[in-house]
Amino acid sequence: MATKPLALFLFLAFYLGSPTMVHQKKLLVLLLDGFRHDYISDEVLESLHGFKEIVRQGVKVDYLTPDFPSLSYPNYYSLMTGRHCEVHQMIGNYMWDPKTNKSFDIGVNKDSLMPLWWNGSEPLWITMTKARRKVSMYYWPGCEVEILGVRPSYCLEYKNVPTDTDFANAVHDAIISLKNGKTDMAAIYYERIDVEGHHYGPSSNQTKNALEALDTVLLHMTMWIQEWGLDYELNVILFSDHGMTDIFWMDKVIELKEHINLTDLLQMKDQGPVVSLWPAPGKYSEVFNKLKLVEHMTVYEKEAIPSRFHYKNGKFVSPLTLVADKGWFITQEREKLPFWMNRTGKREGWQRGWHGYDNELMDMRGIFLAYGPDFKSNFRAAPIRAVDVYNVLCKVAGIKPLPNNGSWSRVACMLKSQPSVAHLVQPSSCALAFLLLFLFV
Ligand SMILES: [Zn+2]
Ligand SMILES: [Zn+2]
Repeated sequence: MATKPLALFLFLAFYLGSPTMVHQKKLLVLLLDGFRHDYISDEVLESLHGFKEIVRQGVKVDYLTPDFPSLSYPNYYSLMTGRHCEVHQMIGNYMWDPKTNKSFDIGVNKDSLMPLWWNGSEPLWITMTKARRKVSMYYWPGCEVEILGVRPSYCLEYKNVPTDTDFANAVHDAIISLKNGKTDMAAIYYERIDVEGHHYGPSSNQTKNALEALDTVLLHMTMWIQEWGLDYELNVILFSDHGMTDIFWMDKVIELKEHINLTDLLQMKDQGPVVSLWPAPGKYSEVFNKLKLVEHMTVYEKEAIPSRFHYKNGKFVSPLTLVADKGWFITQEREKLPFWMNRTGKREGWQRGWHGYDNELMDMRGIFLAYGPDFKSNFRAAPIRAVDVYNVLCKVAGIKPLPNNGSWSRVACMLKSQPSVAHLVQPSSCALAFLLLFLFV
């Protein structure tokens, strides 16, 4: 008589504990650079059939507030770690480490791939890879970097502005990989919305054209997911890193050479809304006092940077940080402005849009959309912050989140009430029949 309960216990222990019985949903992540929240306002959405379909099937938040500075690399990392910049350490698109005299410069640059800049925190794709989950990344900046000793299973390296065809091919390839079990999470980066926003401005026809091209790919994506029968096992999450605002190089430029002696600087990183300065030895007070008088920008000593930026404690933060008022652009001198054709030596190609300003400004706000079996349908959610996204990603990926700065209460509402992570499949009819037979024979 005692053997039956024991056998039953063993059966259940094996059945419930078997990893082969754990059903895990798949995840597709799209990072749409520079996609401002109102590019898909209710009005615009009417003519964007791909986005409209995603919104109909899933969740749309009113907007996503980026981390400060509202620049790309800091937010790529806030989104994928759930930590603020001063915690994950990726504090700018341009950084300098005085200890090693190494620089991080946005774009394709060898020193920027040094683990030094990336090891400050563990992004989700590394955690997943460590958990033996297969991750495929397409054009995602930094996917080729060995972070904390680990690389994802597949990385199609970033190149300067992947085309719409590149993006469509990546989405198609990702869906096939997700379907045939070659990958558990695919993450794709799309840059063109940001590029057109910079060159022509957020309200330009060029930005609208890029939006339409992206929308067409997304419409195809929703159809491919259905055709491949993935709609019940694939969650799709789309978000941007920041928004975009108009800039005016004709009159809203702050030339530092007009206010300080540039030879009094040991190092200067980036130009535009946020500039990092390392004054030369003995020149700190002089530089600081002169810059305090400059209009349309604020100069912060490290300790005086507002806490709400969650920035000042970053290890690569410079002794002085300049933050421009909205629409203003800080540079050494006009000749050094980042024209598109700087590399050709031509002073052509004015930039008409930029981002990086105070992250609470409306224009800096981005988007967050999600649909799939774990998300509510046709659900409009309240605003979230960049650091909140990580917890959603972890939840639907079935990964235990690392300690982070995100708020679970801001995102929980968008998920269906059923737990969705690493849950057990319903016992198959075959296994149930065996169990019932065992109990009642
Ligand atoms: Zn960006
Ligand atoms: Zn940009």
